[in-house]
Amino acid sequence: MTRVDYFDQRRLLEVQVADTRTAQLRHRLRRVAEEYDTASIEASMTELRDGAGAFEAQYSDLERDLETVRRELVSVDKRADANRDIMASGDAPKPEMTRLQRELEQLNRRYGDLEERKVQINERRAQLKKAVGLIDEKLVELSEEKETREKKRVEAEAEYRTELDGVVTERERVAAALPDALIELYEKIRSKQPVGAAELVDSRCSSCRIEKTPNALKAIAEAPANDIVRCDDCDAILVRSDGAARKPQTSADSELDEFLN
Ligand SMILES: [Zn+2]
Repeated sequence: MTRVDYFDQRRLLEVQVADTRTAQLRHRLRRVAEEYDTASIEASMTELRDGAGAFEAQYSDLERDLETVRRELVSVDKRADANRDIMASGDAPKPEMTRLQRELEQLNRRYGDLEERKVQINERRAQLKKAVGLIDEKLVELSEEKETREKKRVEAEAEYRTELDGVVTERERVAAALPDALIELYEKIRSKQPVGAAELVDSRCSSCRIEKTPNALKAIAEAPANDIVRCDDCDAILVRSDGAARKPQTSADSELDEFLN
């Protein structure tokens, strides 16, 4: 298979443009998924939630501690009151009064210690509550960022997919109208490299960009328009521009040319 209508060769370039665009769009779709990836945000959110969970557990432990301290404060207070009542009545013998007085002093110290402990617990609780609050704020922030990213990803993907669908449909339409042999050759080349068909522009192959020698150019120009020319350098089907494919396609065209000249 070496001969294909010149205009079909030209249309093969449209197929190539569509295939190149398809590859770009598929690449962009992969990039979009990476660019708007939310895995790192999700990892941060998990870490923050774990942190908040640990703080909340500490807070619950402190609630229990506080309850214990409160109960002990009540019992110390009760005991001190009882001691004070007995001492105020003056009914007890002197040694007992002395013992009650010493115990009262101990109870007062214990009461002071417990009050201090209560203050410490409450301070720590306030710190934990604040920390959990800050974590919650950060979680809201991250959740919004995640949502924004997902929205952008969905939008970008939809845009690329719509274009991709259009390009693929158009490519199929153009390719279906071309000779099977031409498409088969093109696909065979494309199985080895991204570009299967390239235009010859200003003596350069537009795929490999290598400039053709004057001899090569002469041979290309002299080949009949319906000859399939391949690039010596990159192997792509080299489609000549209108000017570079002046050679007549059939003997009837030749006769016509001679007649006109
Ligand atoms: Zn080339």
